[in-house]
Amino acid sequence: MHITNLHTHTIYCDGKNSPEEMVLAALEKNFHSIGISSHGPVDEETDWNIKKDKIEEYIEEVTALKYKYKDKINVFLGMEMDYIPGIGFSDISRSLINRLDYYIGSVHYLGKLKNGSMWTVDYTMEELIKGIEESFQGNIRKAVETYYETISEMAYKFQPPIIGHFDLFKKNNKNNILFNENEPWYIEAVENCLGIIKNTSSAIEINTGGIARGFTKEQYPSTFILELIREINIPVIINTDAHSVEGLDCGLNEMYMLLNKLGFESLTYLTKDGFKMQNLNVSGEINKRL
Ligand SMILES: [Zn+2]
Ligand SMILES: [Zn+2]
Repeated sequence: MHITNLHTHTIYCDGKNSPEEMVLAALEKNFHSIGISSHGPVDEETDWNIKKDKIEEYIEEVTALKYKYKDKINVFLGMEMDYIPGIGFSDISRSLINRLDYYIGSVHYLGKLKNGSMWTVDYTMEELIKGIEESFQGNIRKAVETYYETISEMAYKFQPPIIGHFDLFKKNNKNNILFNENEPWYIEAVENCLGIIKNTSSAIEINTGGIARGFTKEQYPSTFILELIREINIPVIINTDAHSVEGLDCGLNEMYMLLNKLGFESLTYLTKDGFKMQNLNVSGEINKRL
């Protein structure tokens, strides 16, 4: 099986290691490929998105690694692009898409605070509560539904190769403090969104980044959502959203096992000729890595 991780962050955004350190760590862990996916640029600069004046350096550095390690591992140049309600992908993000091997489309931002700054669903609980108060008059359900509608819009307008951390909203929803995932309106919002994605070419990412960084006990998306994804047959890919070399393979084996248990038979992966499907084979190479 082709062992890979296409969701990794480096010092070009909010990661701890350089792209080369991530590639070397992937080699050490016997990966067949690795994708570097810096948070893409946004109009209002933040401390976690790549700075606009660093973009060319980033592209050159990752491209150089591609050639330097070409006989040992496939290195892919990617970005995690922010899809923002009312804006979509910024002009600069859209202009970069064709220069990359792939990108991950993610929704982090959900609105603007009264002071004009954008707020995200996955930063602090304090910011989230303030955001829901100021953008949705305190209506949590409306905020969650808007989050899934934004993902749906991104999927049908752009069909990103990978849709990042599908249910990111749950990061701050520990012990169901905001909402219960069993509530019919929540399941309906998820199902409607999956119904849209099903008609695109996008794959949904299974993301262990919340576990690696101690934010969640479970992967994104939740297991009941994975069951829905399998039923309607949307392609999936496993990524760890690594922000350091240590996180590079966090939970990978557990996810292969979970998918196998849930009845998934294949995974998508990136090759030099684009995305392809491979059989999920938990008896072979995975066990060698355990
Ligand atoms: Zn993200
Ligand atoms: Zn990420």
